[in-house]
Formats: sequence, C-alpha cells, structure tokens
Amino acid sequence: MTSKDKDLKDIILEALPQLQCKKCEYKDCEAYAEAIINNNESLNRCEPGSLQTENQLRNILRQSQKVITVNEIKKFSIAEIKHEDCIGCTICIKVCPVDAIIGAKHKIHFIINDQCNGCELCISECPVNCMEMIVNPAEESWAWPSQKSYQSKNFYNNKKLRLNNQKKEKVLARERLASSAKIKSYIKDALLREENKRKQTKVYE
Ligand code: SF4
Ligand code: SF4
Ligand code: SF4
Repeated sequence: MTSKDKDLKDIILEALPQLQCKKCEYKDCEAYAEAIINNNESLNRCEPGSLQTENQLRNILRQSQKVITVNEIKKFSIAEIKHEDCIGCTICIKVCPVDAIIGAKHKIHFIINDQCNGCELCISECPVNCMEMIVNPAEESWAWPSQKSYQSKNFYNNKKLRLNNQKKEKVLARERLASSAKIKSYIKDALLREENKRKQTKVYE
C-alpha cells in the first residue's frame, strides 16, 4: 500500500462507524476500508452506517451522493443482559470487540452502557438467550466521525493489542518450557554418559 493509499485508508476508516460488527463481511472496519481501496469494494456494505456512511464514502471518493430521508437515519441500540438468567459463561466477554462487558466465571455479567457500541455480536452467542438489544437510554443515535466512534475504535485497538500481547506471552512461555526441558534432557544424558564411563572404568580395574 502506497503512502497515498494509506492516507486515503485513514480517511475512509474515519468515516466508518467503528462498530467492528463484521456485517460488511469483513473482519473489522479497517479490513473493509482496505477492500474499498484495493478491491474496489462497493460502498454500501456497512449496514449500521446505512446511507449516511455510503454518502460519506461517496463524498470522499468524489462520487455523487444519494438522497437520505429522515426514516433512513439509523437509531442506535445497546445490549442488555437479563441478569436473572445469566449463567456467567463469559462467552459474551470474549466476543465483545470493545470490552463493554464485565463479569467473571459463574457470576452475573454486566454491560458498560457507555462503552457498548451496539454491534450486536454478543446477542446470538449467548447460550441461554439472556441478551437483547434495547434503545440506548443515553442517546438515540450517533453520527461519525464522532467522539463515540473514536472511543469505539480505541477500545477495539486496545483489546487487539492486549490479545496480541497475551498470544506473544504464551508463545514465549512455551519456548521457555521447551528450552528448559531441552536443558534437563541434556543434563540427564550427560549424567548417564558419566555413569556409564564410571562403570566401564570399574570393569577394567
Ligand atoms: S461498522 Fe460497518 S464497516 Fe465496520 S465492521 Fe460493521 S459493517 Fe463493517
Ligand atoms: S456489549 Fe454486545 S452489542 Fe455491545 S459492544 Fe459488546 S458485543 Fe457489541
Ligand atoms: S453469554 Fe449470556 S449467559 Fe454467558 S455470561 Fe454473557 S450474558 Fe451471561
């Protein structure tokens, strides 16, 4: 990717809602932005952003814009947990892209309303169907780029960084274990060789 493409990617990425919801069939907003630049992907794949996002993308890429009626402006929801049914399986924590759920194994989980971006990824994953989307009591809709979309992008990037670091630490721990097993087996072989030598010497004596 040239530096000009990278600049364009950053501009396109900024125009996306940052829900990281995969509804565009890309793994996150950044992957969709890259596909628009590299594969000429269509501009109407972001379902949560709907026509607003499509028009922002059209504007950036100097294409004519579509007319948006008031009904087409999306309202945003957030997730809610029916606490009496939550079994504390922790699945929703793992799928949430922006760390908006807190809880521990076998304990009731909670949504951090300010952090939930309404991506809906957790809803279908809950094994006991105790999650649902509700109208965000704090704000009925949000546009982007906005403080909310920047916040969502930051939470997502922080989670990605944390998971990558955990992965690296696991690999390092495995390597350390393997190398200590190697050293142990090397010492064991050396002791065995010494023992055999001693036995041989006794035979000659
Ligand atoms: S917010 Fe839009 S661009 Fe981002 S992952 Fe969801 S559908 Fe794709
Ligand atoms: S709590 Fe659910 S809906 Fe909200 S951001 Fe996390 S996964 Fe998405
Ligand atoms: S996925 Fe459902 S049951 Fe499991 S911790 Fe989350 S809310 Fe509770």
